[in-house]
Amino acid sequence: MSDGPRIAVLGSVHMDLIARAQRLPVAGETINGDDFALGPGGKGAAQAWQCARLGAATFIIAQMGDDLFGHALAHALAEHGVDTSAVKYDTASATGVNSVLASPTDSFSILHAGAAAKLSPAAAADAVRQLLPLDALIIHLDLPLGIAVAAAEAARDAGVRVILNASPAPREPLQVVQRLMPHVSAIVLNRQEAGQFLGRVPARGDLAHAARTLGGMGPEHVLITAGAEGAVAWDGHEAYEQSAFAVPAIDKTGAGDAFLGAYAVLTAQSLELPDVLLCACAAGAMAASKPGLLDALPNLADVEAFLERQ
Ligand code: ADP
Repeated sequence: MSDGPRIAVLGSVHMDLIARAQRLPVAGETINGDDFALGPGGKGAAQAWQCARLGAATFIIAQMGDDLFGHALAHALAEHGVDTSAVKYDTASATGVNSVLASPTDSFSILHAGAAAKLSPAAAADAVRQLLPLDALIIHLDLPLGIAVAAAEAARDAGVRVILNASPAPREPLQVVQRLMPHVSAIVLNRQEAGQFLGRVPARGDLAHAARTLGGMGPEHVLITAGAEGAVAWDGHEAYEQSAFAVPAIDKTGAGDAFLGAYAVLTAQSLELPDVLLCACAAGAMAASKPGLLDALPNLADVEAFLERQ
């Protein structure tokens, strides 16, 4: 295990099942496909991999079914440096699955969180306590809110920084502000997700103001990402702007996860926020310029080499 910062990630881990064809079938129709891929998905998995790849001792807190997919997911996480000792296996429900039908121009998906959403809040809090000492706990909004609240509370009580990736955009932002935000040290979100809390999606020129407003809800750091338009970070006093690096945008999957992972690891190493923001934007740009997920997430040497080339 790495001797870098210790980071736990609580979030969804599921199996992606992606069938591709030249067009999507209509209701009741069966068509022949061109390709099928099966592999780990979910923000929890992507961000844990990114933290591990950047040198953190990384732990995943998740529940899977005690089935083929559950054990395959744990194996895939461990194979790429993530500690899975806190993974729970539920014998009563299936591992989460995201079933995707994709054509070159469109896609449908049905996400079934399965066992992941049935993790009890008490078990999530226990897992955090068992993994102490931790430098940071990363949480998302893709599991029932009570799970994230319990884990965040346990982390905060132990003096651990809680980083909330407010994704997907919350349907009930007020609940998040009231129940979760008091435990959150940093919130990282994109413009659309910020819009959910603010009542309207902030324009690129308004991101610093938006970050300040979100900071007023409690977190010490606020980072708003804006894809090819870069990102803004606010540290309670000042807002820092970073434009995006010019890269060919090949596949956006994982850009936000790379950004978040870099933020979590580098702040745990006490880098100054403007430098963290620069590296996080580099990691995001690198992920956006490569196809797929796992292969697109950069390690520290990749980020340094990328920044030297700029
Ligand atoms: P999310 O996937 O969560 O919506 P973003 O698309 O905002 O996240 O991407 C996160 C960060 O990755 C951005 O702030 C930016 O720095 C970088 N990034 C994303 N897309 C691109 C792109 N097309 N070109 C350069 N950088 C990008």
